[in-house]
Amino acid sequence: MNYFRPTIALMEGYTPGEQPKPGTPIIKLNTNENPYPPSPLALEVLRNLDSEWLRRYPDPYSRDFCSAVSAALGVPKDWIIVTNGSDDLLNILIRSCAEGKERKVVYPMPSYVLYRTLSALQSAEAIEVDYPQDYQLPIDRLVAAGGAVTLIATPNSPSGHIVPLEDLRTLAREVSGILAIDEAYVDFADYSALSLVEEFDNVIILRTLSKGYSLAGLRLGFGIANPKLLSGLFKVKDSYNVDAIAILVGTAAMEDQDHKNSCAEKVKRSRFLLKKDLEQIGFAVRDSQGNFLLVTPPNNKAETIYQYLKENNILVRYFNLPGLNDKLRITVGTGEQNKKLLQSLDCFIY
Ligand SMILES: *Cc1c(COP(=O)(O)O)cnc(C)c1O
Repeated sequence: MNYFRPTIALMEGYTPGEQPKPGTPIIKLNTNENPYPPSPLALEVLRNLDSEWLRRYPDPYSRDFCSAVSAALGVPKDWIIVTNGSDDLLNILIRSCAEGKERKVVYPMPSYVLYRTLSALQSAEAIEVDYPQDYQLPIDRLVAAGGAVTLIATPNSPSGHIVPLEDLRTLAREVSGILAIDEAYVDFADYSALSLVEEFDNVIILRTLSKGYSLAGLRLGFGIANPKLLSGLFKVKDSYNVDAIAILVGTAAMEDQDHKNSCAEKVKRSRFLLKKDLEQIGFAVRDSQGNFLLVTPPNNKAETIYQYLKENNILVRYFNLPGLNDKLRITVGTGEQNKKLLQSLDCFIY
């Protein structure tokens, strides 16, 4: 007896990064969390939570949060959809648009592996277009793949590169379906593609509070697109996909742009220093516009170093995937965490 749809029985599930309990003596540089605490104003909202908010169902449209996004980013309130992390929005998007061989999901690789998992869940064909060595966006091949949804993470993980606006503009013009621009790391980047939602009916921008706002545990993300595009997604979204606590706390965090910006500045400064220090000990380090670095240790030692660091209570990300298995993705930590990382790497210098 097989309980599951053939697609589910045959597919691989997504493998999340390791998540040890808070309080364990671990330096966690494996899932790109922000090393600094969330906005104190957001934490105050959490401490003063009125139980009435929990007794009732939450606002299905998270309108208070939409107002805060509207004020922070200068987009109209009805151009925003709020979700349970941006993973929820990716799921909604693929469920809304993709199916079988006729309505494909297209994205460059390497990128966020969840795109593959969500496509498989939907039984939608996924076309993975390899990035070239220099990470130029392979526009022609992406267009030729004919996706109902084309997904571009920028800054991309794990490479850390940002896609030039002009390339996204060309892609938006030429793809037949929706272009979803996943800006999970935009708070650490030099620019955003947000303006493209005004230029193109088929563009949606995905954002999250997990990275820039230090709220990965809250699970809050949102999308920005014209109301007509959003109307399809609203049919698919669970009515109460975002809980009352996330709406309240997330609204306060969104209103505190100063806190987010000052933490992002600290991360960017540390990113610069960590890159320099790792290069000093012989690692090849790509430029990054995210809060992480993709590094190639000398002598093909990536997996050895991953294991060694883990035994020494430092978690980094190792991907056993083609083109990545000689590399590590290291989240930029606080100055002190980065120093400890470098000290632990001492024994690999020769
Ligand atoms: C972290 C990440 C997300 C998911 O963020 P959540 O809002 O926590 O679900 C989406 N896309 C990319 C590329 C990410 O790295």
